[in-house]
Amino acid sequence: MVRFPLFDDDGAITGTCFQATNITARKRAEERLRLAAMVFDRPSEGVMVTDTEQRILTVNDAFTTLTGFTRQEVVGKKPSILRSEKTPAELYVDMWNKVNRVGVWQGEIWNRRKNGEPFLEWLSINTVKDKSGKVVNYVGMFSDITKVRESQQRIEYLATHDELTGLPNRALFNDRLHLALARVERSRESIGVVFIDLDNFKVVNDTLGHVTGDKLLKQAALRLLDCVRAEDTVARLGGDEFVVLLETADRREATLTAERLLSALSASYHFDEHECFISASIGLSMFPEDAADANALMRNADSAMYRAKDHGKNAFRFFTADLALQSTRRLALETGLRRAIDNGEFFLHYQPQINLENHQAVGAEALVRWQANGEVVEPVVFIPVAEQSNLIVAIDEWVLGEVCRQIVEWDNSGLPPVRISVNISARHFRKEGMAADLMQIVSQHGVSPQRLCIEITEGVLMDFERAQRMLAELVAFGLMISIDDFGTGFSSLSYLKRFPIHELKIARSFVDGISTNSDDRAIGSAIISLARHLGMRVVAEGVEMADQHAELDASGCHNGQGYLYARPLAPDVFAEWLRARTLSSLS
Ligand code: C2E
Ligand code: MG
Ligand code: MG
Repeated sequence: MVRFPLFDDDGAITGTCFQATNITARKRAEERLRLAAMVFDRPSEGVMVTDTEQRILTVNDAFTTLTGFTRQEVVGKKPSILRSEKTPAELYVDMWNKVNRVGVWQGEIWNRRKNGEPFLEWLSINTVKDKSGKVVNYVGMFSDITKVRESQQRIEYLATHDELTGLPNRALFNDRLHLALARVERSRESIGVVFIDLDNFKVVNDTLGHVTGDKLLKQAALRLLDCVRAEDTVARLGGDEFVVLLETADRREATLTAERLLSALSASYHFDEHECFISASIGLSMFPEDAADANALMRNADSAMYRAKDHGKNAFRFFTADLALQSTRRLALETGLRRAIDNGEFFLHYQPQINLENHQAVGAEALVRWQANGEVVEPVVFIPVAEQSNLIVAIDEWVLGEVCRQIVEWDNSGLPPVRISVNISARHFRKEGMAADLMQIVSQHGVSPQRLCIEITEGVLMDFERAQRMLAELVAFGLMISIDDFGTGFSSLSYLKRFPIHELKIARSFVDGISTNSDDRAIGSAIISLARHLGMRVVAEGVEMADQHAELDASGCHNGQGYLYARPLAPDVFAEWLRARTLSSLS
């Protein structure tokens, strides 16, 4: 506002005149500039302002950083100098329609830097209007999201692919399988699912190391891809397990593919100085003959693969009806097992072990039983299922806890103390931290570790380093280690020296023939003298007859376990048995 005086002819002030100008518009423009400047200062966001003809009026510094164009180079030009062919023309049409209709547009578009490199930007376009509502400027603000997109894509890739081989993973395979099923359900074509498991891959990993193991898996993946058509999917399910989806294949084609896969995989593998051979076991399941849905197809191919493994490996098997029965039974068992611990359906029997010379009780082996729907299920039926579904860990831990509880109860009731053997599955050894978990269970019950013996199978020793590490922990804690079913596995005898083992249990299959079959007798007495030389105790298991007992005793075997002495007994029956034994041996 301006104020000035009014004068009369004599020069005297007669009044004051006020003159006011409306400056709201100017203020607004200043404000806008100030705001614009704030926006322009943002270092990561490119800004360009154009007139209504879309000619660039100005850009900020970030624009130059992001696009490579200086202000001088772009002023007066159109934003289309940034255009890349990666953005479809329709997108620009939609964009301007929206800007004209609602005044703003936001979205992703591909542009090009001055050096030609395409980049993905998140762009928002705003219109600036004057008082009368007429558009005067467009302001485009954008950030470079190429990196964000790349990392998104990487995350997506990792979620759907196996990192080592680059093959699709289980999730992507399942998607493809579902799609294929939806397609063939209409077209009445058939498809095949092929499960592939490398035989004895663990041995490669253990002897040649994980780096070589990984190389082998990569080579195997390439060979698999070579054996199938482009439309088929090869995926890695994990470890040494692969699966192939054969789109539109009948049994004959599937057979040919399986044969090709077997021979491709069994050709020799070369790594630096090593040459190595490995075979595979393959199971096939066909839609619609063998299964009606994706889950069943996968399950059936898996069962067929196990059948191939059981039949000597390096072979393929189709799914068959008897396998169907087996796999439904397995599934029912698995479902039942999952509930069994919570429902308290497991219980233990104790089978005595005696000193062969003086018939005194030296201990017992705890053997698990499962009371399911009023029927007792034997471990030979459910342990393999529990091992495959990893429920074995929970079962073994329950058994150990229950044995500890029982020892405390027996000790409190004055029963003579004996050592109890507990079976721990080889599968369980694959779990990291299993030794610590087992030790914690024993400690919790306050049982002296010397009262317990852990029975493991030779298979555990195959994973050399892991076995050494875990056994060392268990032995340092005070537990004894026994090798169960000795002689049926693959461990070489010299191997044994390298582990802290206290006891060998001669497998029942040798004990069976020890008094009648000269081979069994030779093996039996070899095991006994080996164990004695290495300072280990020997237990013969499955002793049923007096002449077996005599033979074992004569060969120097320390202890025996078997129906000849006692069957596995319920806890109270075992306690009675033990009391009677101790009394009679004292008298
Ligand atoms: P194993 O550890 O070798 O146990 C010995 C098996 O031989 C027991 O069968 C026992 O009842 C049986 N047996 C004992 N003496 C004789 C005999 O004189 N003649 C005959 N024919 N058999 C005899 P069971 O209880 O059916 O157990 C079978 C297998 O199941 C066990 O073999 C063991 O590998 C596994 N198992 C049992 N309990 C457990 C457990 O708590 N945890 C784990 N992980 N495995 C277990
Ligand atoms: Mg055992
Ligand atoms: Mg045994």
